[in-house]
Amino acid sequence: MNQNEHPLNVLVVDDEESIRMAVDRVLRRIGCQVFTAANGEEGLEIVARERVSLVFLDLKMPGIDGMEVHKRIRQIDDSILVIIITGYATIETAIEAMKQGAYDFIPKPFEVDQFRLVAKRAIERIHLSRDAARLEEEQRRTLFDLSTEKSRTRSIVEAMPNGVMVTNSNGQVVLMNEAVKRHLNLDPECEIGQRVEDYVDDQGLCSFVDHVSSDSIGDQEEPSCELCLGDDRYLLVKASPIQGDHQEYLGSVVVFADISPIKKLDKLKSEFVAKVSHELRSPLSTIHEQMALVIQDMLEQEQTDRDQQILSRMQERTKGLIKLVEDLLDLSRLEAGAAYQEAQDISIQDLLPRLVDMLQDQAGEKGQTLRLTMTEEQLRPVHADPNALECVFNNLISNAIKYSPEGGSIHVRLESSDHFIQVEVEDDGFGVAPEDQERIFERFYRVKNAKTRFITGSGLGLPIVKGILDDLGGQISVKSEPGQGSTFTVTLPTTR
Ligand code: ADP
Repeated sequence: MNQNEHPLNVLVVDDEESIRMAVDRVLRRIGCQVFTAANGEEGLEIVARERVSLVFLDLKMPGIDGMEVHKRIRQIDDSILVIIITGYATIETAIEAMKQGAYDFIPKPFEVDQFRLVAKRAIERIHLSRDAARLEEEQRRTLFDLSTEKSRTRSIVEAMPNGVMVTNSNGQVVLMNEAVKRHLNLDPECEIGQRVEDYVDDQGLCSFVDHVSSDSIGDQEEPSCELCLGDDRYLLVKASPIQGDHQEYLGSVVVFADISPIKKLDKLKSEFVAKVSHELRSPLSTIHEQMALVIQDMLEQEQTDRDQQILSRMQERTKGLIKLVEDLLDLSRLEAGAAYQEAQDISIQDLLPRLVDMLQDQAGEKGQTLRLTMTEEQLRPVHADPNALECVFNNLISNAIKYSPEGGSIHVRLESSDHFIQVEVEDDGFGVAPEDQERIFERFYRVKNAKTRFITGSGLGLPIVKGILDDLGGQISVKSEPGQGSTFTVTLPTTR
């Protein structure tokens, strides 16, 4: 018997006490846990209660006879082995019992050795069938584990945000996840099995996959290529070969990642650099040329009116350059979250008069009037970075001054509504044509017409203003008519 097994529960049902005792002794010696019963009823009770594996059953007993007991045991658990103990007179009944599923029989009277042999054979049979059942269960479990592992891997591949495509050594696609179909705009129901070119009409990609599949890639690290799908959509494709134990080529894994947002950012950055270089070049060349003239005059020792003009032009151009650099810095500060960086409660009723005061000189230089009217009621503060808020109104009022002619008038009005303040900056200047009214909030957009041609600027002021207001939960709008003037209206939430 396997030492690791629990002892087998064996039941002996016989009305002869001497037999019960003899059998009990033999069975204990071969390591069984023995239960005995003097009649059928007792025997059935034990079968129902204990986990019995083997029953020695006398056929001739008072009360329920052995045949009936056998039938009921089979009803309770038909895996129990039953061995009939029988006198010669009932041998036919024993044969009948065998036909009905009894495992063996032993005629009475029997020798101990004979009984031991029968018992051992039955016990061995029980162990064998238990082993077989365990093996079957193990195999079933392994198969189950394998299938869950497979479905887990499948689910992971399907759920990946990057596209995964696997080709075999014939170049046929043998696996393709949902993301590939999405990235390549394929029919979600499309079948695998075709070659890469049947799914993607891009010669570059197909030769890239072919190249990865050939021996020529050697130890080249992570070969990759870019796939442009139009509409500003770009995929980065990386592939690696799958090799067998003998370095033979089995296929390749191709991974697709959507890099459209990165590309867009890259394009914006290039545009930004181009624009800034362009904007810096013109004032710098003016300064350079004008300085050359002043130097020439100085060499000739003549200080002239022309020099005065040149110097003031240079001053104006450098001012423009400084403003551009400041705007660029404001823009990068805004991107770093400046609107809230050192946020505090700010009273607009304090801020506006200070700003308007500061800008009076600028307006005065053009003979303009700059006025401020404010509601009498005490307004709630706005929670923001003071520099960011100053930047908003400074830009709007400076623009009103810049884009209005000499002698124009600018009116700043502060009003409030529930939980909001509203500031209007109104001028009677050049105005903005309807088609430009949306675009003036775009980075670097400047309206160029006869009136504004000679006004310097970066086209970054209004985008910065809008960015700050967006961050603070505020809004800006413009009403304007060319030649009549413009009104920029800002709304900002106050603290509650
Ligand atoms: P900048 O003034 O540096 O050009 P902004 O972003 O502040 O950049 O303004 C963008 C454009 O909007 C300006 O070039 C100008 O054409 C127009 N603009 C802004 N404010 C006014 C205004 N008050 N009146 C007329 N045009 C304006």
